[in-house]
Amino acid sequence: MKPAAFAYAKARSLDDAIALLGAHKGEAKLLAGGQSLIATLNMRLSAPSLLVDINGVAGLEGIGVTGGMVEIGAMTRHVALERSSDIAKHAPLIALAMPHIAHPAIRNRGTIGGSLAYADPAAELPACLVALDGEIEITGPKGKRAVQASDFFTGLFETALGPHDVLSAIRFRAAGANARAGFAELARRHGDYAMVGLAATAEATGKSLPDVRLVYFGVGATPVRARKAEAALAAGSVDDAVNALDLDPGDDIQATGAVKKHLAGVLLRRVAKQLAEPRA
Ligand SMILES: Cc1cc2nc3c(=O)[nH]c(=O)nc-3n(C[C@H](O)[C@H](O)[C@H](O)COP(=O)(O)OP(=O)(O)OC[C@H]3O[C@@H](n4cnc5c(N)ncnc54)[C@H](O)[C@@H]3O)c2cc1C
Repeated sequence: MKPAAFAYAKARSLDDAIALLGAHKGEAKLLAGGQSLIATLNMRLSAPSLLVDINGVAGLEGIGVTGGMVEIGAMTRHVALERSSDIAKHAPLIALAMPHIAHPAIRNRGTIGGSLAYADPAAELPACLVALDGEIEITGPKGKRAVQASDFFTGLFETALGPHDVLSAIRFRAAGANARAGFAELARRHGDYAMVGLAATAEATGKSLPDVRLVYFGVGATPVRARKAEAALAAGSVDDAVNALDLDPGDDIQATGAVKKHLAGVLLRRVAKQLAEPRA
C-alpha cells in the first residue's frame, strides 16, 4: 500500500517545528527516524496532512553527562546510544537494552525521542526510562516542561505529548558505584518486539537491594512496575518476588496472558541474578 498524500516541511529550528505543528491544528506529525511512522503511513493507520521533519534541527541530538545527570537529545539515534562509552559507563541499563531493539538498519535511523513518543507497549526504552526514574523534557508553544517518565505513558500508544509538542530531551541520574542494572526479554526472533521484557535498576547496600525497580514491557498498555515483586526482592527472596508478581497481562497475538505471566517470572529470575552482581 502507498501512503495518503501529505505535504512535507523541513523544520529549521525547534520553534519552527512547533509553529508548523500549530499551524496545522493536529493534522501534522513530526518525522524523526521514520522507522515507525513511515510504516503506519504506508498501512494508512495514520494520514497526517503534513510531515514536519526534525532531522538536522540544532540542539536535539547528543549525549551529555553533567552534574551527575545524563541528558540525551531526542534525535539521538539508537546506534549512537549503542556505541557510546558514556552510555556504557553512566547508563548501563540502556546499554544492556540497545542490542534488543530491532535490527542494525533500524537502529541506524531510529531515535530515542521517536521510540518514547511512539510509546509502543512492547518497546524497550519506555520501560528503561521508567526504571531509571527519568524525566522527559517537552517543548511546546508555551515553552519547556518536564514530565516524569512514570507519568508520561498514559495509555496504549498514548503519552503526555500534546499535538503541538516536541519531545526534546530525556534526563536521568547517572549510575553511581552502587548502581545495578538488569535487563532481559523474550522475543520470537532476536530483534522482534518482545513478548515480555523486564528492565530493572537498584542501588546495592551490601548484599541487599533496597531501591529495586522492576519495570515490565509487553504486559500492558504502558510500562508496568511490579511493586509487590519489588518489595519481595528488596526483602531478599527471588522466589517470593516471583510469587508476588502483580501483573495481569492480557492475551495478544504473541502469547496468552497466562504464558506471559509465566515468562515474566522466568525473566525475573534472570534479572535478579544480574542485579546481584556488582558492576564490572
Ligand atoms: C521491523 C521493525 C522492528 C522494530 N523493532 C523494535 C523493537 O524491537 N523495539 C523497539 O523499541 N522498537 C522497534 N522498532 C521501532 C524503532 O525502534 C523506531 O525507531 C522507533 O519506534 C521510532 O523511532 P523513530 O525515530 O523512527 O520515530 P518516527 O517513526 O519518525 O516517529 C514515530 C512517532 O513518534 C513521533 N515523534 C518522533 N519523534 C518525536 C519527538 N521528538 N517529539 C514528539 N513526537 C515525535 C512521530 O510523529 C511519530 O508519530 C522496530 C521498527 C521496525 C520497522
